[in-house]
Amino acid sequence: MNSQTCNVGVDIGGTNIKFGITDSRGSVVARHSVPTHAELGSDAILSSVVDGIRSLLAAANVLPGDVESIGVGVPGTADSLSGTVIYAPNLFWKDVPVAAVLEPVFGVPVHVAQDTRAAVWAEYLVGAAQGASGAASVTLGTGIGCGLVLDGCIFHGALNTAGEFGHQIVQIDGAACNCGRHGCLEAHAGGLALVRNALARIPDLANILGKPTAEIAVHDIYQLAESGNPKARELTDEVVRYVGIGLVNLINLTSVEIVALSGGISNAPDVLLLDPLTAFVRTRAYVSAASRVRICRSALGDDAPMIGASLLLRAREAEIPQVAAPVPLIMAG
Ligand SMILES: [Zn+2]
Repeated sequence: MNSQTCNVGVDIGGTNIKFGITDSRGSVVARHSVPTHAELGSDAILSSVVDGIRSLLAAANVLPGDVESIGVGVPGTADSLSGTVIYAPNLFWKDVPVAAVLEPVFGVPVHVAQDTRAAVWAEYLVGAAQGASGAASVTLGTGIGCGLVLDGCIFHGALNTAGEFGHQIVQIDGAACNCGRHGCLEAHAGGLALVRNALARIPDLANILGKPTAEIAVHDIYQLAESGNPKARELTDEVVRYVGIGLVNLINLTSVEIVALSGGISNAPDVLLLDPLTAFVRTRAYVSAASRVRICRSALGDDAPMIGASLLLRAREAEIPQVAAPVPLIMAG
């Protein structure tokens, strides 16, 4: 493989760690995956990451010296400047210096970002949002997450909490959320909420589906809605309404021109999600944005965080300040 043209992306999820080598166009040329074993702690996971990268490079015949950079996406808050994971509850991580551990091992720059931000960076550079200057990538999974690219840069926010789309309130004093608050979008329209609401409102759900309660998943509810079950349809309409409110808020606040949807709920049939969601936004977002914003599915799907992680080098380059720090004013007299 041509030197200096490949980058390694790592997506540390709660269940699996995904590894990929991407070429200069962001195409995945080799991939690998191992179980996460979050219960073993950060040292064990980081040593799995080191082993996984080495295995991947060996299998693809890439020498460590041919790698330009490594990027790591994590399900939590990261300080992208220091390459430290500040807090990742699903991994039980707090203040884990990922870049400081990996850089001496591989001798290349290591970049770290929240997985949702890595995902939107991938969509922006090589996925559904290519050519946009402002884009959002919204994951409608078990929970609801979001990454934002604004004016060509990943948006972190002054408090490094940008993109907590799933925790915007859509119903005052509504359902309890995992974040400790009430009425969050995720608590009303995330995958967990959809299944929980379906079990509560369709008492004979397990019988209708012919499977044990514990195995009922988001796609079962959508199948039932598609087959004409009115109660299931009510639930999927509710998802459209709540996610629609979330998207209108997001679009009105950020003026993004494209929203790429991913996650389990995004696989719903168009008539139950994408079409009514687009109609909701067209009729309810701020008028001059409503007709122009585009809602679509992610082009990269579950690979987006891993691909985006491999391209984080370019995010850091995009963020380098273009102007000198302002000169303080000196008052006359
Ligand atoms: Zn919340």
